[in-house]
Amino acid sequence: MKRFDLIVRGGTVVLPDAVARLDIGIRDGKIAELEAELDPADADGSVDVSGCHVLPGMIDAHVHLNEPGNGHWEGFETGSAALAAGGCTTYIDMPLNGVPPAVTAMALRRKAELAAGRSAVDYAFWGGLMPGRLHELKDLMAAGAVAFKAFMSEPGGAGEERFRASDDCTLYEGMARIAELGGLLAVHAENDAITSGLAAKFRAEGRVSARDYAASRPPEAELEAVHRALFFAERTGCRVHFVHISTAEALRMIDAAKRRGVDASAETCPHYLLLTLDDLERIGPVAKCAPPLRDEAERERMWRMLADGFIDFISSDHSPCPADWKTVGPDGSFFDVWGGIAAAQSSLELMTGEGLRRGLTLPAIAKLLADGPARRFGLSRKGRIAPGFDADLAVVDLNRSYVLERDHLLQSHKHSPYVGWTIRCKVMKTFVRGRLVYDEALGIAEPGRGAWLVRSA
Ligand SMILES: [Zn+2]
Repeated sequence: MKRFDLIVRGGTVVLPDAVARLDIGIRDGKIAELEAELDPADADGSVDVSGCHVLPGMIDAHVHLNEPGNGHWEGFETGSAALAAGGCTTYIDMPLNGVPPAVTAMALRRKAELAAGRSAVDYAFWGGLMPGRLHELKDLMAAGAVAFKAFMSEPGGAGEERFRASDDCTLYEGMARIAELGGLLAVHAENDAITSGLAAKFRAEGRVSARDYAASRPPEAELEAVHRALFFAERTGCRVHFVHISTAEALRMIDAAKRRGVDASAETCPHYLLLTLDDLERIGPVAKCAPPLRDEAERERMWRMLADGFIDFISSDHSPCPADWKTVGPDGSFFDVWGGIAAAQSSLELMTGEGLRRGLTLPAIAKLLADGPARRFGLSRKGRIAPGFDADLAVVDLNRSYVLERDHLLQSHKHSPYVGWTIRCKVMKTFVRGRLVYDEALGIAEPGRGAWLVRSA
């Protein structure tokens, strides 16, 4: 038997604290050896990636693939194909917007059945915390939920079975229970009284433009909710994570809580670092999200916070929907348009290209995209290029810029705010546990390769 199944040769490898020209020897899906030169005769196969950088595959901890129930919006096949093409090797699927949402162990298992054999890359699942469902948390965790998610403002959507926001009592009691279970709760932190109240007022006044929508979700709504969730987390001892933080001030609050001993973390998304309120007006509904895009000064503050280590990791918050949900109706109301940006395929390329331009190092970028989420969610074999870790690799050509076209997107509905952008680098190949799942020339090389990951103790 040969020493390796595969050698990925000649690449410049992004290690946790260095970048080096190394060959990667892979055996049984894991990184077995990293050496300046390995002998191809020692392996069953080898792939030459000279001229490219090899990053740990992105771990996208925040995507909405919408099965069961809304697979026509995005499903495991199309969503995971887009992720693979973007150099992502693991994702964690949110408990909404499938029907039913993953707020019971049964619903989570149903999701796992649907994903089996259909995902190009590895995956894990969030469980949902919702009013009246506290008794489900333990079983959800036992069924494999890596963490829980709650909304502090109404997430929208229709139907009896839609995911609902947590009132303060649900949040407080939920955190106490999750703390007992040793779990982690992620919160969408916006104050519902402010966002719903302003939305109703603006609509009544006929103020329904993109800018009005953004004004209905001001920074203060985020700041107050972060403050309140941190207070509950501190009092209950619950580990807490803040999804898609959009303001530097919220990041400072979270950092101050960490210094007091609260086990807290924060993520942001590429769109809060790359787009502004002006872009929302220019691009329209495709760039609508919650919290909304902020002004340019805030975007620049977010980059400084990122550089200074205030952000634990980056996620896409890939939130797809059909094109007609992204169209302003005859009444012209921006409020009625579906909120969510569907751009998971571009996260790694955008963050690498723009991160390097702004002076971040490749190990720092890799930490934000892979190691950060892996450590936070207990995915112990993931997130680093190091011996013993899964051979999850994104091969990236840093010298190849291209203009993103709709046809490049492998997601179900091909709208992204970055269509027409010049992207500064290109994912050439993606490996999951040592198997090629995406190749720039071939497309998806191995659909259904992904496996379900449950949290390691
Ligand atoms: Zn989301």
